[in-house]
Amino acid sequence: MPTRTARPPTFQHMPKCLRVLSAWLAACLMICIPAPADASPAQPKGPRDARANAARQGPGTDLERWCRGVSALEPEGSLDRCLSFQLSERDGRSVKGIPLWSTDIVPPAETPQPLRVLVLGGIHADEGASVILVMDWIARARQGGTARPVHWRMAPLVNPDGFFLPSRTRMNAHGVDLNRNFATHQWSAEARPYWIKATRRDPRRFPGPTALSEPESLWVHQQIESFQPQLIVSVHAPYGVLDFDGPPPPPSRLGNLMLDQVGIYPGSLGNYGGIVLGVPVVTIELKQANRVPAMDAAAMWNDLQAWIGRKLLSAGGVTASASPGRAAGDEPVQAGE
Ligand SMILES: [Zn+2]
Repeated sequence: MPTRTARPPTFQHMPKCLRVLSAWLAACLMICIPAPADASPAQPKGPRDARANAARQGPGTDLERWCRGVSALEPEGSLDRCLSFQLSERDGRSVKGIPLWSTDIVPPAETPQPLRVLVLGGIHADEGASVILVMDWIARARQGGTARPVHWRMAPLVNPDGFFLPSRTRMNAHGVDLNRNFATHQWSAEARPYWIKATRRDPRRFPGPTALSEPESLWVHQQIESFQPQLIVSVHAPYGVLDFDGPPPPPSRLGNLMLDQVGIYPGSLGNYGGIVLGVPVVTIELKQANRVPAMDAAAMWNDLQAWIGRKLLSAGGVTASASPGRAAGDEPVQAGE
């Protein structure tokens, strides 16, 4: 004979009054108990979501919070100085909804066809020196004017999500290396295999699921499309060299950084600007990750302007179809940028 085991009473076996009471209690608990504290907020899916996310970040304006964080890193920085830079959001937001602030410094209105130069810092957020240098150059351009007929557009911090973490990261909030996410030739065929084989899946150099998958790299791409820079200056650290892609002949040095063209990478801005677009890209690799002596910043600023005067202005400007400064088939290398 099979042994009968006692079963606990089920919901259906309860008296009707108890069933009604249980259902009412369950409904009350669903409404009254908040979601677990560690439930992840949804990632922004577009500009509207990003703005809503940014609006929840606390008191003060977006720009004030940004300026406090950035100026704390600068030896000469202050909230007032940062706020005086006339930084503009220009429709750029990070994954977490932080604005990608930039500013334009323009020559006098009567200047005919000034050279357009785009300067970018903080693409890698753990390279704070790049942010310091671009902030320093904004101050120099605004205080002293530009010695050349140049329209500067400067964005000190392209990767704010990585910057505003307790421990800064090279990658953005999606874990993507923005300097491997630009739409270079054969990105789909090259970027991921390169990441797997050459970097052995180094998470610090993950190129992303597709080219321009990230709002930050897409914003830089859109700036290039709309501003049409004739020179791009991309600031990094701490390899202590000067790199260059595209026409014309590069500067041999900027300040105490000597030219050393280290190679190209699938998805890098130097590769995209210099090889794909034919726009000269100066890549500055500062010597220290989080410090730039003011004397060095001034020397680089002066040398860059002198080179612009000699090679880009007096030579009649830059043509986008000029021959690249480096063959597209050159072997990429692993370190740098
Ligand atoms: Zn870098």
